[in-house]
Amino acid sequence: MKALNQLLRTNIQNLKPYSSARDEFTGEAAVFLDANENPFNQPYNRYPDPYQRMVKDKIAELKAVHAANIFLGNGSDEPIDLLFRAFCEPGIDNVVSIDPTYGMYQVAADINNVEVKKVLLTRDFKLDVEELLVQCDDNTKLMFICSPNNPTGNCFNEEDIVQLIKRFEGIVVLDEAYIDFAPDKSLLPKLDKYPNLVVLQTFSKAWGMAGIRLGMAFASQEIVGVLSNIKYPYNINVLTQEKALELLERESDKNEWVKQLLAERETMAQRLEQLTFVRKVYPSDANYILIKVLEPRAVYDFLVTKQIIIRDRSTVSLCKGCLRISIGQPAENSLLLEALSLYGKNQ
Ligand SMILES: *Cc1c(COP(=O)(O)O)cnc(C)c1O
Repeated sequence: MKALNQLLRTNIQNLKPYSSARDEFTGEAAVFLDANENPFNQPYNRYPDPYQRMVKDKIAELKAVHAANIFLGNGSDEPIDLLFRAFCEPGIDNVVSIDPTYGMYQVAADINNVEVKKVLLTRDFKLDVEELLVQCDDNTKLMFICSPNNPTGNCFNEEDIVQLIKRFEGIVVLDEAYIDFAPDKSLLPKLDKYPNLVVLQTFSKAWGMAGIRLGMAFASQEIVGVLSNIKYPYNINVLTQEKALELLERESDKNEWVKQLLAERETMAQRLEQLTFVRKVYPSDANYILIKVLEPRAVYDFLVTKQIIIRDRSTVSLCKGCLRISIGQPAENSLLLEALSLYGKNQ
């Protein structure tokens, strides 16, 4: 890995971060007259903890990492955007990413005026390690890998990911949004070994908290420090911090949901295989299934008439004819399968 200062934008290296009232005094006190808050309407009159200490301590315990290695954002989208802003000089630097993958990396790149060099997965959706490395140049600051990958649903070979981390001189951003559904292990326990690794996880999927907007980036203390310096000071609001603390006590619910969704996913895969117009059901390590059909738009439109919405991914690289189906509750999955078999009969 290059030295962090070589990777960071100069303006970020030199940044003097905003210092809030809550930065200048921390600790116990009886009277807070330092932040121009309204003294009434407690507790929502107070600014939230800008460091989210209680939430981070709980996550540190759940994930067996140090709190200093955790950055919290308004969804994973926030750390994705902040990584561009910290490391990529607009119009000059670039990032390397796989294709197909999660659309947000490209959007964040476009917003920041940063080029994305895309490297196709192999036809069986594996990483092309050598090509990913060949695409990197002196101005390549970040490499985005998503495993399990969205929309293909598969995990990548851990050895391939480790190769990229070891051989790429910049920062590897490994998006593990769906890791709770995968048989493969998270790379989180190896964070200490790889100073250029950023692991993204989220509460939006397995934990069922997409509505509260809370995403995590795990990285070296130095990288977490940089992201913390450039975030909005109060990026995680009081309601989200409170609700997260409450819901993080219910890890067993999360585990139960994952178990149910995995069982449903297997049933769904089997039933989808039986439909004559379905040409392929891709194996999935996530809470969705990618299928290939003859006429994706016709299937999609038919489902819309039945008020069932899935995701048309047929225009995405390597995904011609593909539809992505999230695993729902059993009754929802049954409605989908009924509608699909009706579509099949009408063919
Ligand atoms: C859903 C998803 C996320 C989660 O985004 P949030 O902003 O945390 O809701 C992140 N990465 C991938 C690949 C996803 O599919």
